[in-house]
Amino acid sequence: MAAFDDTAFDNHERVVFCHDAATGLKAIIAIHSTALGPAAGGCRLWSYATDDEALRDVLRLSQGMSYKNAMAGLKFGGGKAVIIKTPDFAGSDALYEKFGDFVEQLNGAYVTAEDVGMSVKIMETIARRTRFVSGLTPKAGKAGGDPSPKTAYGIFKGIEAAARFKLGREDLKGMTVAVQGVGNVGYYLCQYLAKAGARLTVADIDPSRVKKARDEFGATGVGLEQILSQDVDVLAPCALGAILTKDSIATLRAKIVAGGANNQLATESDGKRLTDAGILYAPDYVINGGGIINVACEYYGNVDDAAVMQQVAAIGPRLTGIFEEARKSGEPTNVIADRMARSIISRASAASA
Ligand code: NAD
Repeated sequence: MAAFDDTAFDNHERVVFCHDAATGLKAIIAIHSTALGPAAGGCRLWSYATDDEALRDVLRLSQGMSYKNAMAGLKFGGGKAVIIKTPDFAGSDALYEKFGDFVEQLNGAYVTAEDVGMSVKIMETIARRTRFVSGLTPKAGKAGGDPSPKTAYGIFKGIEAAARFKLGREDLKGMTVAVQGVGNVGYYLCQYLAKAGARLTVADIDPSRVKKARDEFGATGVGLEQILSQDVDVLAPCALGAILTKDSIATLRAKIVAGGANNQLATESDGKRLTDAGILYAPDYVINGGGIINVACEYYGNVDDAAVMQQVAAIGPRLTGIFEEARKSGEPTNVIADRMARSIISRASAASA
């Protein structure tokens, strides 16, 4: 791709290509913005058809982290890394240590954490070589570790806020929710929803995960093709991105879309399609910010778990603010969230100029 002129580049401050022949490490670290603080975002381990695809992915994800961190009120800019899973990928400790060396060389401009394909154990290996890492084993009662339960709690608070706004509901008892993907985030979300008395329908490509949700939460399992068009109050996408398209939106019967998956809208105009269909959409990077709030609390130190939960719960009122603005202006919620995020970042840039 042509770098500076490509729309995916979107004024990134820095993009670093990391290569180490001895360990086979090939990674890209993208720093979109440090206006609000160190560029923070997870490291994804993934196989890509081409290097170009990896570059586009990391650029898109790091821009998304700028918006997510701004909207979560964190002292973090946006960044992301990908480690490319080559056909002969070894995944050795030496490779992850080398990645840690590259992060350390950036001297705090980028803070890494877990994303798809990574684990607390790998983060501990990276942390042998750099201080600029989060998502490590937590000390008892303190912030840290796997961010998924916090992400799920934020989504739960977001669903409560959406149900209050759209349906006038004070609780979730008897409400119906369809969850696409019951992996880390989807599982914990089902746990919160079941406890609140919601009735669950789930789908996952892994049948054992559906069975677990059925056994533990009394969920009904449906086929992968059926989950999006369930006649439910809430659809919670917790698997893949780009599932809200012109075609899929035409089949939705939910009144609210509120889930954890990143980049749910295939294009920006799909936000307008949802608004036109009378469906309330909770912008993904606002509702799924619980995990990065946990990462920030761990990174900035010594915050206890109860305080993290309090910060994550603020996702509910934050979404209500966006919903109210959308009702007043008639604009789609994603457009409002993007504008708010950009304005927070540009105010910080102007203040530091
Ligand atoms: P995960 O891999 O643990 O879970 C994803 C689940 O979706 C898996 O069980 C998988 O089998 C299932 N799945 C995949 N394709 C599917 C399909 N077509 N239909 C139904 N199910 C399908 O990942 P996760 O950590 O739970 O993350 C879920 C989503 O939330 C991702 O988009 C991720 O980027 C986003 N997210 C996660 C966090 C976090 O804290 N883990 C934070 C923010 C955003």
